[in-house]
Amino acid sequence: MLQYTVYADLNCPFCYALHEQLYRYGLLNQVDWRLVEHAPEIGIYNKSAESQAELASEVFVVRSRAPGIDVALPRFRSDSRFASLCVIEAEQQDTEKSIELRRRLYRALWVEGKDIADVSVIYDCLKETGLPTELDITEDQENQLTDWQTAWEEGNFNLRIPVICAEDGRVSLGLPSPEDLKAFFKGEDIISQEQVRESCPRAEQQTIAIFCDHGIEKIWPMIATLRNEFNILLPSSKGELTTLLAEDQPDLLLLCTEQQWQEMLSLCQEITANKDDYTLPVAFVSADLDDQRELDAYNAGAADFLTLNRAPAVLQSRIQILMQLKQSQDQLARSARVDGLTQVNNRREFERNIEMEWRRAQRSKRSLALIMLDIDHFKPFNDGYGHLAGDGCLRTVAQTIKHSIQRAQDMVCRYGGEEFVVILPETDLDGAQMIAERIRKAIAKLKINHEFSSTDNTITISAGVACLSPSQEGSPHELILLADQGLYQAKAQGRNQVAIVQTSE
Ligand code: GH3
Ligand code: MG
Ligand code: MG
Repeated sequence: MLQYTVYADLNCPFCYALHEQLYRYGLLNQVDWRLVEHAPEIGIYNKSAESQAELASEVFVVRSRAPGIDVALPRFRSDSRFASLCVIEAEQQDTEKSIELRRRLYRALWVEGKDIADVSVIYDCLKETGLPTELDITEDQENQLTDWQTAWEEGNFNLRIPVICAEDGRVSLGLPSPEDLKAFFKGEDIISQEQVRESCPRAEQQTIAIFCDHGIEKIWPMIATLRNEFNILLPSSKGELTTLLAEDQPDLLLLCTEQQWQEMLSLCQEITANKDDYTLPVAFVSADLDDQRELDAYNAGAADFLTLNRAPAVLQSRIQILMQLKQSQDQLARSARVDGLTQVNNRREFERNIEMEWRRAQRSKRSLALIMLDIDHFKPFNDGYGHLAGDGCLRTVAQTIKHSIQRAQDMVCRYGGEEFVVILPETDLDGAQMIAERIRKAIAKLKINHEFSSTDNTITISAGVACLSPSQEGSPHELILLADQGLYQAKAQGRNQVAIVQTSE
């Protein structure tokens, strides 16, 4: 019998739905279910409005994607680490029971809405499974989790979960439909361009860049306290630091300087004066207390002044506070860019980006394509099923569009109401038409009931596609107008279709 490996998290609803489906099909005994953490910081940030909105949207998608699987919206997404360690330990004791434990934990969170980071919830699951309630969690389980995490991060999975890998090399990324799932376990290859599936991306770990112009031994105890929680980058020269700041966009810069104090002060001033989208907090790490230096540092815009004569744990706590502040700032900045309902970029972000891409295309003399999409007969959907269902549908459609595009530079935005736009840099008309068609099919495939539609009895979209090589005089408005004309044509020709607009160039 073929064996399969799955990478999944306990706190991801897509992974839960996959686990539940495999359980129902009696396939779990063929699967090596490897737990990973796709959002390691979740313990700190899980209760923010942002992450709750994201969770609500994922649960909605899972409901439409995996009909028949119970899923309720929990109050927040639990930190899954300890529960995962318990499952690993249980597996060493009793494989059968560990599968059952996993299922109970999944259901505790995703059906009963319990917090599976809570030891009493884990205790109950262990007890109901008939496993010892005193599990001995040691480095062994931690190491196992780390190994799986590394295998997932280094596998070519785009850092998404769930992933199913078959022994024979086939891979399925995201949550397959029930039919695809069965086909995959029968040995079929279900991957195709048309099948971009719902999945959870990895939440990025925050990064600290540490520049030290003297022996690193002195700051090593401090680094040791941070290594597990954050990515640490250690540029070895000023040149390397400059490249790193531009390319890696760290979340904090620690300057540990003895010899280049003035130079570092100027660097701090330069960085913190920058009012672009990306802001970088800077903190100094000095050997001892020095009031004058500390004041100079604050005047140059530093966020903190740490001294190495304090216990490493104190430095660690202060750095964690800086990182939390940065995370909140980033979330705030993100919420200014993202549409609250659909979690895709908002109109303002569209305007900003289309201008930017237009100028970029002018410089590079490459073409820029735009897709404008509109849900068909959405007013009767709202009137017939109510606004709440309308909102849910908008979320699902938005997420489906987002999952249908693959390149990092492509961008989905909510243009207004039930209209969306996709900006496709360096894409020609054929390419853009193919993507629009892929989106249209992905939405039709959701089969969201719409008995009040006169086009079909499910939700469909119409799309207009246009592409230009921006001239020096023109403006992105031309491209928007063309795509809009295409959309108008698609509607006029009967909806649920893509219309391309040829230009005379
Ligand atoms: P067509 O096929 O021609 O596009 O018809 P339509 O009914 O989709 O078009 P119309 O522009 O008449 O209706 C758009 C509807 O979208 C109006 C409103 O009920 C709904 N809508 C717009 N924004 C929202 C929203 O944020 N939430 C919900 N629930 N509905 C919205
Ligand atoms: Mg409309
Ligand atoms: Mg419409």
